[in-house]
Amino acid sequence: MRLQHAAAALIAAGCAFAANDAAAQGTLNLYCSVQVEWCQAIATNFQRDTGIRVNMTQRGSGESLAAIRAEGQNPRADVWFGGTGDPHLAAAEDNLTQAYESPNNSQLQPWALRQWEQSGRRAIGVYAGAVGFGYNTELLQRKGIEPPRCWSDLTDPRFRGEIQVANPNSSGTAYVIIATLVQLMGEDQAFEYMRRLHPNINSYARSGTGPIKAVARGETGVSLSFVHDAVTERNAGFPVSYTTPCEGTGYEIGSMSILRGARNLTQARRFYDWALTAPAQRLGFEAGGQLQTPSNRSAPLPPNAPDLSQIRLIEYDFAKYGRAAERRRLIERWDREVGSLP
Ligand code: PLP
Repeated sequence: MRLQHAAAALIAAGCAFAANDAAAQGTLNLYCSVQVEWCQAIATNFQRDTGIRVNMTQRGSGESLAAIRAEGQNPRADVWFGGTGDPHLAAAEDNLTQAYESPNNSQLQPWALRQWEQSGRRAIGVYAGAVGFGYNTELLQRKGIEPPRCWSDLTDPRFRGEIQVANPNSSGTAYVIIATLVQLMGEDQAFEYMRRLHPNINSYARSGTGPIKAVARGETGVSLSFVHDAVTERNAGFPVSYTTPCEGTGYEIGSMSILRGARNLTQARRFYDWALTAPAQRLGFEAGGQLQTPSNRSAPLPPNAPDLSQIRLIEYDFAKYGRAAERRRLIERWDREVGSLP
């Protein structure tokens, strides 16, 4: 009896200890701009590994940037994880994020560190992925439509109302696509191209991952997407395939930043260091089926992930297209000349 009491007291003490321990580790407020399953896995695993409680909000890259801008020097989040690199660069330029050098930088790919240097050490690469065309193999076959192979194919009347892409105001993916076209064609020609493409677009979705999910469900034949997301849908059993544009294509350096004025700076740095490790980077594939190229050199490329070295990539000018004013100008021009078309 006495032993049982002692055991109960010990268990109670242990619980109190665990609770105190968690409280002592503190809290991290995380804005997350990758797929929600991946965001949740990151929050759960980091909390389990460190005892730090995570409050996570998932939003697209453009939406996260808008929230961070609105909060200004009184940010609600400590860290912004993932999403395309350009808005992270814009946030760095606008002094909304802060410099940090992680001891784990030495484990990263050169492109991840280039992003860090270009941003004044405020944004670092966590993954990379290329833009291409996702398509529903069954739907296109049924309609007798040849899949697109080149940007020039997309304006063909055979794709009338058959293509979906995201809206650059909310989606980082959509902005990468616009910046890619501008770099490939020249700015005026790119806008002329997007106006010609417009009749073939059935919807400008809010999120960059919306269009490929619509392809998977058979709601649209073709999407402009990151091609790793097409493989995720195929792995989930949907009749989805992809091609990368014959003229060349752009890519993202999915990034991470610590916010300026972060209230939980110790926890933010701990998260940042953790998120650069190979086991944390593997979570994208293990928990979310995500197939981006991880920035940690020891994190393996997931099976069947698109191999960036096999894709014709442009020399994407991240410094120029990540500039806040350039980003704003191109999105405003898109609103005026493309998004507002009937
Ligand atoms: N989800 C995944 C899997 C991504 O690779 C990216 C790009 O970084 C995003 C979401 C970003 O989405 P959005 O285009 O809505 O900003």
